[in-house]
Amino acid sequence: MRALTFQAPGEVRIEDVPEPELTRPDDAIVQITASGICGSDLHIFHGRVPVERGFTIGHEFVGTVLSAGPEFERAGVGERVLGCFHTACGTCRACIRGDYHRCRHGRTFGHGSKLGDLQGAQAERLLVPNANLVLRGVPEGISDEVALFAGDVLGTGYHAISHAGLRAGDSAAVLGLGPVGLCAVQVARAAGATQVFAIDTVADRLEMARRFGAVPVHLTEEDPKRTVRAATEGLGVDVVVDAVGDPGPLALAVSLARDAGVVSGIGAYAGKGEVPLGLAWLKGLTLRTGLANVIAHVDRVLEMVGAGLLDPAPLVTHHMALDEAPAAYELYDRREALKVVLTP
Ligand SMILES: [Zn+2]
Ligand SMILES: [Zn+2]
Repeated sequence: MRALTFQAPGEVRIEDVPEPELTRPDDAIVQITASGICGSDLHIFHGRVPVERGFTIGHEFVGTVLSAGPEFERAGVGERVLGCFHTACGTCRACIRGDYHRCRHGRTFGHGSKLGDLQGAQAERLLVPNANLVLRGVPEGISDEVALFAGDVLGTGYHAISHAGLRAGDSAAVLGLGPVGLCAVQVARAAGATQVFAIDTVADRLEMARRFGAVPVHLTEEDPKRTVRAATEGLGVDVVVDAVGDPGPLALAVSLARDAGVVSGIGAYAGKGEVPLGLAWLKGLTLRTGLANVIAHVDRVLEMVGAGLLDPAPLVTHHMALDEAPAAYELYDRREALKVVLTP
């Protein structure tokens, strides 16, 4: 079958790879109908996340069940399913606590041998282990490209807001309006946030945030701190989401939060960074970070999408064939796309 494989930093290729095979009773094989290209795929593309040459990339997917072991009971053969971006065993101590994102045996699709040696979803077919936890049926009326978001980007935006304990009537600020930040804006509004300040430098992204009900704030042409203070009686916001993905904006996040507020860091931090700990301490802030627990959120996220409270469809800027995936990576790398959906 055809799949998009990593070759060398800056080089991916469509190749013929072996067909996936069922090995365990709760495995399923999914015939992919749509897969997404994600910001974390770019880390692989550039060699910042090491993946073996010839490994298939991709972890956002929707498809139909092609075959499954006898213990798989989520959906029947031929039915539509969406996937979460990683697996979990369901029985380790982290899983029993409900912390599926910290599963001892968790494996991430399309991230090479270091993250579980699980081939990726930018392919015609995909082996899904622990499929009862990883897969969900796609409710009638939800398109493939919308369902694609539930097991990754939208689940991550949901995590950023729920992890922050946002309550109806709260105010919020979201730093970084990539797909995750824009989803966090939607979730914050759906959760009852009255004011959401959406901060970035890209005009199109600010405009989309405005359409989602946020107050757009240009990071450099305006003074975000002054704007947020002016609108909150000088107090700052209840919840700040840092969806940028490096430690740089943490200082701004700390400055925008009200006393005893919450900063929810959902972008991936790596290495060390500067945090104004003194100010965070003085303000009594709560800082929460980490990978999103999408398996725990995916059912709620689907309910909210089905009820019309969340709609990631505007984030899909490009539809391309799987065969065009190398060009799609170039395009995405130039930041000309928010979300590319690939169809085999
Ligand atoms: Zn992703
Ligand atoms: Zn586990």
